[in-house]
Amino acid sequence: MRKPDAGKVLVCPHCLSRDLHFTGDLLGARYECRECGYAGALVLEVEEGFDAEAEKAE
Ligand SMILES: [Zn+2]
Repeated sequence: MRKPDAGKVLVCPHCLSRDLHFTGDLLGARYECRECGYAGALVLEVEEGFDAEAEKAE
């Protein structure tokens, strides 16, 4: 299991929500997003002060 570095948070690569639920096991990491339903091993690791709302507003 991988833990984010201090000052980092994991966010959903699809909707950038921080509401991720870890569902991995010994075979590998896996996350589920409670915001958009995304499920997979790939998540983004961002700085604590990351502003997801500003990123989405393109
Ligand atoms: Zn999501």
